[in-house]
Amino acid sequence: MNAALDPHRPIQALSDQLISQIAAGEVVERPSAVVKELLENALDAGATHITVRLEQGGVKRIAITDNGRGIAPEQMRLALARHATSKIASLHDLEHVATLGFRGEALASIASVAQLTLTSRTAAAAHAWEISGTPAGSPAPASGAAGTTIDVQDLYFNTPARRKFLKTEQTEFGHCAEVVRRIALARPDVSFSLSHNGKAIDHWNATEVAQRSAHILGDNFATARLALDESAGDEASGLRLHGFAGLPTAAKARADAQYFYVNGRFVRDKLLTHAVRAAYQDVLHGDRYPSYVLALELNPALVDVNVHPSKIEVRFRDSRAVHQFVFHVVQRALAQTSATAFGTAPAPLASPSGAMPWLREQQQTMFGAQLRTDTATDISSQFKRANSGFGVAQSTASYGALFAAAAAAPESLRPAIAPQPIQSLPGDDEHPLGFALAQLHGVFILAQNNRGLVLVDMHAAHERILYEQLKNALDADAMQVQALLIPVTFYADAVEVGTAAESRAILESLGFDISAVSPTTLAVRAVPALLKNADTQSLARDVLRDIREFGGSRVLIERRNALLGTLACHTAVRANRSLTGPEMNALLRQMEATERADQCNHGRPTWVQLALADLDKLFLRGQ
Ligand code: ADP
Ligand code: MG
Repeated sequence: MNAALDPHRPIQALSDQLISQIAAGEVVERPSAVVKELLENALDAGATHITVRLEQGGVKRIAITDNGRGIAPEQMRLALARHATSKIASLHDLEHVATLGFRGEALASIASVAQLTLTSRTAAAAHAWEISGTPAGSPAPASGAAGTTIDVQDLYFNTPARRKFLKTEQTEFGHCAEVVRRIALARPDVSFSLSHNGKAIDHWNATEVAQRSAHILGDNFATARLALDESAGDEASGLRLHGFAGLPTAAKARADAQYFYVNGRFVRDKLLTHAVRAAYQDVLHGDRYPSYVLALELNPALVDVNVHPSKIEVRFRDSRAVHQFVFHVVQRALAQTSATAFGTAPAPLASPSGAMPWLREQQQTMFGAQLRTDTATDISSQFKRANSGFGVAQSTASYGALFAAAAAAPESLRPAIAPQPIQSLPGDDEHPLGFALAQLHGVFILAQNNRGLVLVDMHAAHERILYEQLKNALDADAMQVQALLIPVTFYADAVEVGTAAESRAILESLGFDISAVSPTTLAVRAVPALLKNADTQSLARDVLRDIREFGGSRVLIERRNALLGTLACHTAVRANRSLTGPEMNALLRQMEATERADQCNHGRPTWVQLALADLDKLFLRGQ
């Protein structure tokens, strides 16, 4: 029976087993997730050698053996219990967590959806102990070396619905192998062995990151990458980014060689991916994906790792600062290649040791400390390879192209900002407002003149121009009239119809032809040519209202300017209208030709000048 349809089902507390099975949906979504949790546990236990044995893509069996500190027999049942962990004991611990695990739910979740056997031996114990089953029985003596083996068989044997979501053996194995690679990259100091269906797949001896990443990402990456290591900020809020950024020549058609770690934890984070991507923007074509192995380290209190059950996303307290830092470090590293070109190795990167105190307590091994020597060897080996023609003729060419592109990048910004007319900029007298550079947010025009930057409020300026033009035309009794091909008719009330009839002469002198075509309809047949782009109906309504309020002919004496101001406002360019370069320049020229163009007719400035000296001050230059 469908539970949802049974209104009489009472509320019941879920059993522990069921809770774990529900949690398993998040923690153990596929075999690779089990591999990840078990590897993290092994690393948290201080293992230096880890063996991963998989059968049938991990579905049949995942057995992970480590040489870590082990679990004492009396703790074994707790290890398998939900919400039981040795890694944190308080909220404070959670906020400063330095271990990979801390939720205390992985083993319980896995045990609820598979047959789990835990065998472990601490250094002090005379022999190993083993427990299995759910709920787990009592530990029994077993054979085994110091360390822990967790053997997970028949994943999802009791939750067939989940089993259906699994892909082919090869796909599931692929995911498992990728998880092993991610973790192996982060911990080159630990040796890893991986086998599948009894066949050895990978074995990596303990080494340092340069070698490990070369092994895992391949030769192409190993010979075309930049070592980087930069720190910024003080002890409490400092950031350190280190690792390897692949040169554009090592870029790939897929984003499958991008490894980013935050405090030793592999993450796939939008913010970080974006920062790196942006740093490559100048040197990499849009459909290529950079390869990189980068590690960000920061005070654990400044990053929340508990935002995702598998902890693959993180949340930074100051995400803007992190983005900026990552972006600039990677960008600098890439730019450095163009500045130093070939042959000259960059100055040794500052030693980070001592800068980040928490690094010493934890994650010390993350990527090791030999980055400085690496920097020199990496660059110079690229140099040699690129210049010796040692099978890299093509890559020499692309290096050249890359460096040329990188060197040209900052330059190429200049022509974009300063369009042609600047070169032939005449004296200030002729074009004091200079020439338009761009339009900002559809509201302002940015222009450059001899003194510096001119900022124009587009609408206010245009309003003032129209207003002055209307005044001049009216004074000269030369208001140009624009006849409308199709009269604009609109519903009008009796007062409006009456005003139109009484004020024909005034309307005419202003350039309007407005007359009644029925007791409730007015027709506009002509408007001042200067205002032909305005909304005819509201323009007509406003002029009738002003005339009525000021009692007929007096409007043109006492309220003339206000009336013309209203009219000008109707027609002036609205915010958010995008203007072309010639249109903007035309507006600047009209402003120069217009009296009192410095203020709109409401008294607000239409433009401001920011002299170069003002700009220098903004950037504290020359101080
Ligand atoms: P968590 O890792 O979040 O603490 P787990 O369910 O993964 O939760 O593990 C529960 C506990 O079991 C850990 O806190 C740890 O004390 C112990 N444990 C698990 N795996 C190992 C291992 N390979 N070696 C030593 N202890 C382990
Ligand atoms: Mg764990």
